Amino acid sequence: MRSLHIMNRTLILINPCIYDFAAYDLWSKPLGLLSVAGSLRRWGFNVHLIDCLDVHHGGMMGKGAVKPPKRRLYGTGKFWREPVPRPSPLKDTHRPYSRYGLLPELIEQELRKVRDPRAVLITSLMTYWYPGVTEAVSLARKVHPGVPVIMGGIYARLCRDHATRTSGADRVVSEPGMGPVLKALAECGIDASREPPSGTVPPYPAFDLLTRVQYVCLMTSLGCPYRCQYCASHFLQPVMLKRAPGDVVEEILYWHRDFGVRDFAFYDDALLVDSETHAAVFLERLARRDLNLRFHTPNALHVKEITLDMAGLMRRSGFRTIRLGLETSDISLHRDLDGKIAVGDFERAVRNLFKAGFDRREIGAYILVGLPWQTVDSVRETIDFVGASGVVPHLAEYSPIPHSPMWENAVKSSRYDLTSEPLFHNNTLLPCWDETKRAQIPILKEMVSRIREKYRQP
Ligand code: SF4
Repeated sequence: MRSLHIMNRTLILINPCIYDFAAYDLWSKPLGLLSVAGSLRRWGFNVHLIDCLDVHHGGMMGKGAVKPPKRRLYGTGKFWREPVPRPSPLKDTHRPYSRYGLLPELIEQELRKVRDPRAVLITSLMTYWYPGVTEAVSLARKVHPGVPVIMGGIYARLCRDHATRTSGADRVVSEPGMGPVLKALAECGIDASREPPSGTVPPYPAFDLLTRVQYVCLMTSLGCPYRCQYCASHFLQPVMLKRAPGDVVEEILYWHRDFGVRDFAFYDDALLVDSETHAAVFLERLARRDLNLRFHTPNALHVKEITLDMAGLMRRSGFRTIRLGLETSDISLHRDLDGKIAVGDFERAVRNLFKAGFDRREIGAYILVGLPWQTVDSVRETIDFVGASGVVPHLAEYSPIPHSPMWENAVKSSRYDLTSEPLFHNNTLLPCWDETKRAQIPILKEMVSRIREKYRQP
């Protein structure tokens, strides 16, 4: 009996396709799933990863109806895309809807490559991307009937009841960490408890299972000390945890040395908070090595933390893409919403970044659009404010998130039934703005384009 367990410890892990109005690969990798894959390997499992968002998959080449995705700087770019009909709750919206990722027949082929898997584990991210998860569950069922399917990830945690009711998975893991994953495996008759973690597999997320390791995404800390009304960070990770700086350096050196990786994207919610004992320590050590690395922060940085010293260290260590979490230039709104910016913080941070030598095209500021009761004028003023500061504005459309402090207000202010249908959380719908405000969106986008155009000129 024991030898059978050792002979067959194969698991399939799936990163599903995306169904949405738009999707872009801004250093988008399923870091949670890859972390689970890395841990399971150390527990002695044989892991087969199917990344349905793999832009380098050879099987997609030459599929006439699907154009190869354009790729851009530092590993970012478009996904494979094919237009699909909108699901019935979105029938009344008049925007094209697409499926991003590998074609279903290719996913089936990948599933068939694995003989007798013990279980299929599927991750999830945005709540309104659940159709991709349901599709992955049904493809796994079709190819491997009778094999247990376990799903986890952000959607599973934020919308547990919906996921349990509709995903078709045998188990929905809605708690964080490896413990609940191992427990779900045990409930499916797969015992991991007696296998001690092996010391031969590197203790990092399994990026090496991807077709190509163009860039690596990192979490140097979990959680955030702030409690912004529009964010579920505190629900997902109530306690802030930080890795040892030496451990972060080791991981970066590992991917650089063994895989030639130069681009690293930080996924931290609060990378620069308490930097003197954390980020400043590992960035200083990396800067001294002069490895020509490039760092990117698709999740915004806290502007309060960007002192002149920190800006200089960011420059020396190789930051290339900097996103600042401005959200709004209205300081009274900040008091109500997040308390993370005071008068002058943003301007000071931008000044410090310029003094450190950053080009304005390397610095972007996120501006929230579509918050309940937010006015169009407030967004317009924020765009002007960012334009005047000399950095690039990025509109970030608000998506209502279950379990965030603002959720109840969002539900009350939306014309959609947010509680029963996660497709209505989609930020493209601007679900908490009425039609009059939404009609102003093209004008706001035009303002942003004009500023960007100005910066493109020499
Ligand atoms: S929005 Fe950012 S700063 Fe605010 S709680 Fe979430 S992660 Fe923290």
